[in-house]
Amino acid sequence: MIVMKFGGTSLESSERIIAVCDRIKANLALRPVVVVSALAGVTDLLIRGAKLALDRNRSTDDIVEEIKARHRSVTTDFLAAGEARLTLFTHINAVANELNAFYVGVHNLQELTPRSLDAISGIGERLSCEMVAAALIDRGIKAKAVDARSVVVTDESFGRALPLMVETTEKVRRVLIPLARSGVVPVVSGFIGATQKGVTTTLGRGGSDLSASILGACLPAEAIQIWTDVDGMMTVDPKVMPNAKVIPEISYAEAAELAYFGAKILHPATIKPAVEKGVPVGILNSLNPKSPGTLITARTDGGAGEPRAIAFKKGITVILISQPRMLMAYGFVAKVFEVFERHKTPVDLIATSEVSISLTVDDPERLHAIQADLAELGEVSILRGLAIVSLIGRGFVRTAGLAVRIFSCLRDINVIMISFGASDVNVSFVVNQDKAEQAVKALHDEFFGPRRS
Ligand code: ADP
Ligand code: ASP
Ligand code: MG
Repeated sequence: MIVMKFGGTSLESSERIIAVCDRIKANLALRPVVVVSALAGVTDLLIRGAKLALDRNRSTDDIVEEIKARHRSVTTDFLAAGEARLTLFTHINAVANELNAFYVGVHNLQELTPRSLDAISGIGERLSCEMVAAALIDRGIKAKAVDARSVVVTDESFGRALPLMVETTEKVRRVLIPLARSGVVPVVSGFIGATQKGVTTTLGRGGSDLSASILGACLPAEAIQIWTDVDGMMTVDPKVMPNAKVIPEISYAEAAELAYFGAKILHPATIKPAVEKGVPVGILNSLNPKSPGTLITARTDGGAGEPRAIAFKKGITVILISQPRMLMAYGFVAKVFEVFERHKTPVDLIATSEVSISLTVDDPERLHAIQADLAELGEVSILRGLAIVSLIGRGFVRTAGLAVRIFSCLRDINVIMISFGASDVNVSFVVNQDKAEQAVKALHDEFFGPRRS
């Protein structure tokens, strides 16, 4: 069995949905379990509607109509008039009515909790899985839409839920394996799950990759294929640098770092369930299936000392805490981290001196409260509008001359923080976010430019 996951970019239009059916058809012998994201842009629209619903003077009717119209129009383009199309339209109407009721609830209560937002933002996947299943059946392939809430069991961390693997494995064995074994392609909604009590959760933005990885680990699958709109994992985001190159093979550790430090192609947590079960993950282009793509494996040897890719993440904030009075005291760092733990806010990079500590966060939600708590420990200053640029590779701390090469690329750019040596696979630094592209370009030319190809 394999897992084939198709992202929103692969489900943008009826033509793309038909191309997806072709990819699935070509892999039928491998008994695929399919995972789909929402149609491109739909999750953003749903979330926009939720925020709009909080405004007393605005209506969300247009958003509900747009959701309905978009799904009906794509359906009309790939499915001829008939019973199957009518059934799908009925489903689209029912889910749109549910969405409307959620928006009305948010509007009346003037409250949008992470739990209600999950119910709203997961609507797109509940529609797309029915559409892809119908498109497959229309092409003579046995298929069944499966609402992931009946399979993926998660904890109650709404907005970034984590899977409960034992419970999920049990459901996967009961629901998905018999379907796949009987020659039916299960088309599972990505991104969503449900708590043990059956409340809808989501796995975080981009979470359909994680859905694929969870199912791949629970089956367990022989391979997980992540189908997207580029030829694989590349040396840098090809939307930023058109001369980015495909990386044919990359280790789990490198891929996880790349994802975490901003390469949007993969959800950061995707790799973990797959690594734990040793399931290889392939990244492939649904628009260019002949391209070999990228294989993510457990292998960690080879190519040491050379960066393999560059990632960057904007919207970063640096928090600097200084404590001059406590010169040489111990316990300061622990107290600082306690504050971040209390506010459940992850810290990415850290730099310390004897009397101060700088760290970066990319989730500004709790910043105000964090700042207030840190002020009890020392003087706090905040720098916003920054970016982390990261080079990912292997054997960095064992390679002479690498730092010189990296920082000579940045001679015209103000570097605010550096993290080198925390891991052998990552060198990261912080710059102003309007300089991020310039830094990425200079580094890409140095390490992957024409001289190197
Ligand atoms: P999907 O809808 O298939 O989940 P995403 O938009 O989430 O697709 O991810 C694919 C996008 O990731 C690509 O279109 C590309 O712009 C972006 N991306 C960022 N970094 C990289 C990278 N290093 N290699 C390839 N793509 C990248
Ligand atoms: N549709 C969800 C999102 O846009 C999940 C995904 O695409 O992976 O975040
Ligand atoms: Mg994605």
